[in-house]
Amino acid sequence: MNTQNDVVALVNISAQKWPPRHRTYFGSLEIRTPEPGEAFAITPIHACKGIMDLGDKRTMEFPISAREIADDLVLELNGDSGEGSFHGVFVAAGPMPTEEELTEAHRKLDAFHRRLVEAADLEWERSHNPMFITDLERRAARELKLDKPWLYDPKPQAECPACGEKIKAGVAVCRSCRAILNREKAAEFGLVLRESERPLDLMKLREKGSAK
Ligand SMILES: [Zn+2]
Repeated sequence: MNTQNDVVALVNISAQKWPPRHRTYFGSLEIRTPEPGEAFAITPIHACKGIMDLGDKRTMEFPISAREIADDLVLELNGDSGEGSFHGVFVAAGPMPTEEELTEAHRKLDAFHRRLVEAADLEWERSHNPMFITDLERRAARELKLDKPWLYDPKPQAECPACGEKIKAGVAVCRSCRAILNREKAAEFGLVLRESERPLDLMKLREKGSAK
């Protein structure tokens, strides 16, 4: 096999971004994501040489075909979300994906998203708790352009005006920088003194001071 010419096209139809894939035989590989307006993105996968350790400082090189590497990556990328999961990545038979291959990939991705949405609907019916809806399920509903009551996070994250860290809306004190964001609420929990309590407290302190 001529490894120089052994290249296959790993096709991605989804906008999902993955962290780089790592393999000892090629190092790190970025899986391409379609740019806006593109129907798919191709990441070319090249054949590699693996090195087998035979012991006694002897090694043996062996070829790994592009197809083997691509199949392995596809299995890893699609398979991380349970049985039958599909994230829109496949290996094209030729250098470019055919219409049939793309249609089939869209059908599979659609079916997977619909299953996720169904599971979320059931969960919502049972618990009405958005905590039990996964990010994957939310993403699936958005991909299918479905409006669901469980799509909305009831506790939107706000930013602390003092340090810029993400905080829960309505908290009294920023957990990062300790800035008091709601004095009334902070006082309620004894974190600061109420305006009205201050002079009195000062007077008490003075009294204590003079009693010594
Ligand atoms: Zn802060």
